[in-house]
Amino acid sequence: MAAAKVTIIGAGIGGLTAALALQHRGIGVRVYEQSSQLGEIGAGLHLSPNGMKVLYALGLNDEIEAIRFQPEALALRHFETGKPFFENPFTGDFIKTFGAPFYGFHRADLHKMLLDAVERNDQDCIAVGKRLTALTEDKDGVTLVFEDGSEVREPVVVGADGVHSTVRTLLHSDPDARFTGHVAYRGMVSVDDLEPDLVEPKMNLWAGPGAHVVAYYVRRGELLNYVALTEEDGWETESWTTQANKADLADQFKDWNPTVQTIIDHTQQGQCYKWALLMRDPLPAWSTARTTLLGDAAHPMVPYLAQGSVMAIEDAWVVAHYLSAHPSDPGKALKAYEEARLERTGKIQIGAWEQGQITHAVGRGGDIAERGDGGGFAKSSWIYGYDACALYPD
Ligand SMILES: Cc1cc2nc3c(=O)[nH]c(=O)nc-3n(C[C@H](O)[C@H](O)[C@H](O)COP(=O)(O)OP(=O)(O)OC[C@H]3O[C@@H](n4cnc5c(N)ncnc54)[C@H](O)[C@@H]3O)c2cc1C
Repeated sequence: MAAAKVTIIGAGIGGLTAALALQHRGIGVRVYEQSSQLGEIGAGLHLSPNGMKVLYALGLNDEIEAIRFQPEALALRHFETGKPFFENPFTGDFIKTFGAPFYGFHRADLHKMLLDAVERNDQDCIAVGKRLTALTEDKDGVTLVFEDGSEVREPVVVGADGVHSTVRTLLHSDPDARFTGHVAYRGMVSVDDLEPDLVEPKMNLWAGPGAHVVAYYVRRGELLNYVALTEEDGWETESWTTQANKADLADQFKDWNPTVQTIIDHTQQGQCYKWALLMRDPLPAWSTARTTLLGDAAHPMVPYLAQGSVMAIEDAWVVAHYLSAHPSDPGKALKAYEEARLERTGKIQIGAWEQGQITHAVGRGGDIAERGDGGGFAKSSWIYGYDACALYPD
């Protein structure tokens, strides 16, 4: 017997994957999204094998092939010379070892792929322009109130409403958000504007003193995405839409390898953005009898392990598994989901921050072995080797 219906707040990558995973198990969904139009911002992201396994299990093989980019390797480079400290291949044995590839995507492509799949199953299940403002839960259900004054009563609610989650704020004491002193600048460059072969088809990471830059291709190799991470004060806002001054960014990297400077120079005007990195401790719990959290709403993290979306995708598979296993007892299902996810996601939240510090230490001349992934991905095997689909099968 499938659970009657599950309501999801937020149609981001986490919310849509959850919708699809629930539909995959025959559970009806209703998604409420605050934006009036569905879409994603113009940025890239990497999905490691632990996330890819879920997307394949949801039957998205052909759709993935049409939009992904396969980087050849992780190349950790010296910030001035550009010479690699090491290269770890993402092909060959990597795929055999971890059971799926490591791909680069344009966020908008990934989001559209998920949205199309959800709407193929149910054309009318997503309501836009619905910003949740209040939530009250009693033993029989959950009442949701939206900014437009409308109100609905639902049996089970999943808060997939991102780093500034309203569901989390309403139901749990919000974790302290502390500015880390790191800022992420990002931009996208068309490959037509770059010399061919200027940037190798790898996940290129230049590590320098107190900063690093990651550049990789997305959208079948048509666009180059970069993120430049700096240590600085005076800017503490987490937002995908805050514009940065490209000239200021270029100035910060003026002594770096010419390839890094060329990438920054070719960012289209008005397409350079900045995001202050805030750190939050893992929550001790995130479910009630009828409501839970997923993705950044549950475990916001800094991006140094590139696992935020991947964790949301894993969460989506696991929450669907338990809601399907306990259709008439949401409290039991949501508790079991939380127990399955708390330790792993908390470890990644903390590990992500440590990874950023290690990378910047390498750039300051610290021990490269500290990064632990020279000559292989042994340090990441507990992350990449995880298989939610095998642990929580259909
Ligand atoms: C610079 C940078 C680089 C990154 N790179 C990677 C990477 O390479 N790989 C990776 O896995 N992760 C990466 N991440 C992390 C990733 O972006 C996030 O973890 C991911 O977007 C979380 O997805 P989500 O669905 O939980 O939240 P979101 O993507 O934030 O989606 C939340 C949705 O909820 C909606 N919403 C919010 N509030 C309400 C409300 N009150 N009512 C209704 N709807 C609401 C929002 O409009 C949005 O659509 C990166 C992050 C940053 C900052």
